[in-house]
Amino acid sequence: MILKPHPSLKELSLNSYLFSDESVNLYEEYIQKTTSYIQQFLSNRTFYQGDNLEEILKNKEQAKLLNIEETHTIDSVLEELNNLYIKNAIAFHNPTYVAHLNCPITLPSVIAEMITTTINTAVETWDQSTSATFIEQEVIQWITNVFNLSNNSDGVFTSGGTQSNFMGLLMARDNYAFKNFGINIKQHGWSNEISKFRVFCSEKAHFSIQKSAALLGMGYDAVIPVKVDKRMRMDANELVLAIERTKQEGNIPIAVVATLGTTDYGSFDPIQTIGKITREHNMWLHADGAYGGVYALTNTHKEYFTGIELVDSITIDFHKTLFQPVSCSAFLVNNKQHFQYVSYYADYLNPVEDKDPQRPNLIEKSIQTTRRFDALKVWLTLKTMGTKTIANYLEEVHSLTKAVYHSIKDEECFEIAHVPELSTLVFRYKSEGITEDIIHNTINLYIKNTLYKAGKASIASTKLDGNIYLKFTLLNPKNTINNLLNIIEMIKTTGEQYKTTN
Ligand SMILES: *Cc1c(COP(=O)(O)O)cnc(C)c1O
Repeated sequence: MILKPHPSLKELSLNSYLFSDESVNLYEEYIQKTTSYIQQFLSNRTFYQGDNLEEILKNKEQAKLLNIEETHTIDSVLEELNNLYIKNAIAFHNPTYVAHLNCPITLPSVIAEMITTTINTAVETWDQSTSATFIEQEVIQWITNVFNLSNNSDGVFTSGGTQSNFMGLLMARDNYAFKNFGINIKQHGWSNEISKFRVFCSEKAHFSIQKSAALLGMGYDAVIPVKVDKRMRMDANELVLAIERTKQEGNIPIAVVATLGTTDYGSFDPIQTIGKITREHNMWLHADGAYGGVYALTNTHKEYFTGIELVDSITIDFHKTLFQPVSCSAFLVNNKQHFQYVSYYADYLNPVEDKDPQRPNLIEKSIQTTRRFDALKVWLTLKTMGTKTIANYLEEVHSLTKAVYHSIKDEECFEIAHVPELSTLVFRYKSEGITEDIIHNTINLYIKNTLYKAGKASIASTKLDGNIYLKFTLLNPKNTINNLLNIIEMIKTTGEQYKTTN
């Protein structure tokens, strides 16, 4: 048998882009080249170069992975990527971007990302992560202290609020089943009692609550929406009534999700009152602080967190309100024993015989296995910028939101859905002389889409009582009231323009 000769080591290293000490000069060179593309991106004056179907179809073709048996230089592919993606990427730091919960990010977090990615630490076991373990634990401890959780509290980084909410409901389900029925779901799986489990959240809660209930085998129907008051907060009386109704129907109330900052209105459910109710009914209390949680650092929103120590678990998204790159999120529990519902001891990874309190394996707290070292960016941000700067940023975007509210609240052509509590404002444009909602809906969608497609402003929309409203989500502390009022002017002009052209 004739063996095919292997390529020489030299050939391999010449053709190889594997990252190592041998490629470190190339690395430096490309960091610089990449920086110039990023500089171009940052210098764009609008959030988007504009939406053009011809261009979109061209980019779809460009994205195709054709001829990948052939090699290409990084330079040529970077140039291609610039035209395909970087030029078309949405600039969240741009002040005309006021649509979703995407924040501008801190410089220390970007530097941390570079370290995280190039060293490529995986934080699931001590032997892979060493001191990174302590950095994650420190950040977790810092945030559990911010929330005044117990000495027995703990937490873990997750991929986002959705995963954190999933973990909250998983623990609520498994803990209730075990404590009240002696059922060990982790070991034995499904049991009929679980079909009767019900979870309560406000009607303005995030959709990931329903989605998690479905993924946990309980279904959307296991989530009971509770009415909100005028301030879009869960009505505690309605909660009590809903719990009673559920019991009368023969179902089992197991948990309440209180939202700290609803996605649309930034409203906070009354956590202390809800905490008393969940204690009385032996239910789990999960706080979804994906949006508003970090406001615990501010002076302006402290009172919204009174009673937070009553929670069993908390979701917090650093990639929304701590100015961190995606992904950066955490799940916290008041009693770390509850991590038993997700822990697993794998022979090849973290055998139980090898447990060592000085060298912990974070995998025991996570539903992921291989996991990014996302905690580093928070650690570096906190060390360099301090919590006061972050709090000032959050207070600033809140105050900008209030300023927009006060500027437009008496204008005939706007109807505002709420008094802003955080940094979102939901409102709609009301064209003079038009009474039908269906036309208002069409005009508001027209405004949103026209401004987006022209690259002039990215505004979100949402529905309230079946009607379309526009939404500002302000997360950029460098934005200005003048710029925001300029967007308001564009909304008016575009609304008027619809009338003259239709
Ligand atoms: C954004 C959001 C989530 C989901 O978080 P992701 O990080 O996007 O997965 C959950 N709850 C609330 C209130 C949110 O605003």
